[in-house]
Amino acid sequence: MDQPKSTKIAAYFYGEQVVCPKCIRELVVPFYRIADTGRTTESILDEAASVAGIDRADETSFNTRQFPKVIYQHEIIKGLDSCYLCLREP
Ligand SMILES: [Zn+2]
Repeated sequence: MDQPKSTKIAAYFYGEQVVCPKCIRELVVPFYRIADTGRTTESILDEAASVAGIDRADETSFNTRQFPKVIYQHEIIKGLDSCYLCLREP
């Protein structure tokens, strides 16, 4: 088998922009009226997806304007990708 790729989530693609996990929370929580925010960003996104009728397991079934898609650490281009909102590098 090949070297396993990183499965660490670095950021999200949303509306064709790179958005860091902290900023994606701030977008998703009020938009989907998430009540319980004391948990992981991924858990919040799972709830938002079920509200939106999005199947996160099948990323071909939606586009980044409909729902954020995961960007893994190995997919980040150092020095090029930064959060669209806070400008931090993921
Ligand atoms: Zn950010």
